[in-house]
Amino acid sequence: MIDRTLISGNSASPVILHVPHSSRVVPDEIRRALLVTDAQLAHELDEITDAHTDTIAARAADVADSRPWTLRNDLSRLVVDPERFPDEREELAAVGRGAVYTRTASGSPLREDNDHAARKTLMDRYFHPYAADFDAAVAARIEATGHAVIVDVHSYPTLPSRYELHADGPRPALCIGTDPHHTPAWLCEAAYAAFADLRDITTDSPFTGTYVPLSRYNTDHRVSSVMIELRRDQYTDNPGAPDIDSIEHIAAMLARLVDAADRASG
Ligand SMILES: [Zn+2]
Repeated sequence: MIDRTLISGNSASPVILHVPHSSRVVPDEIRRALLVTDAQLAHELDEITDAHTDTIAARAADVADSRPWTLRNDLSRLVVDPERFPDEREELAAVGRGAVYTRTASGSPLREDNDHAARKTLMDRYFHPYAADFDAAVAARIEATGHAVIVDVHSYPTLPSRYELHADGPRPALCIGTDPHHTPAWLCEAAYAAFADLRDITTDSPFTGTYVPLSRYNTDHRVSSVMIELRRDQYTDNPGAPDIDSIEHIAAMLARLVDAADRASG
């Protein structure tokens, strides 16, 4: 089973598309430890999988002027969520949605609480190697171009999940997630410009932040990052098939951001 895939881009491109949440794959031995029925698991995966973001990223890479690099998680976020802080900085840990989820999106038990050995096994087997691979991908872009620009590609459900801590805000067509240390103004502005067709865009609501490997977080300012959170109903009646025209339209906008990041960074 493949845990994740790094898809090569142009050697001169500083851009890495990150696709952390598109997979529904849960290895058997991990499935067996989950405290849910198959029907509950299917429902959970429908709700929390960023369906078809792998296709959106792949098409954007195809049509961008300079092909970006892509790091895709090939396992479900139910295995580990590579984007969470692994420590007390993670506010979602309080609701069982830290790096190793212990609650479903609706708040029912997913794993035993306080099973520290099981958590450590998952962190050692999946979380830390993922972070190391991402760090290596970033290091390669810096080596080649002097910097790295991460575009973190997500989608989110129309109705809020129960675990969301900021569910009262608007749920726009696009939420742009920023980080105070790693999202320069030009990158946020480039995201607004690239996705201007969607009109309905907010910053950091209902989701905030964007991925940077912890090894470089707030220490390596050659690394820029911005998160793209697309409301899922724009391109699929999840869990149904994607609407191809919508996917192509969104991918073209994402390619515009990739091209802007390629030109403007440095
Ligand atoms: Zn996501």
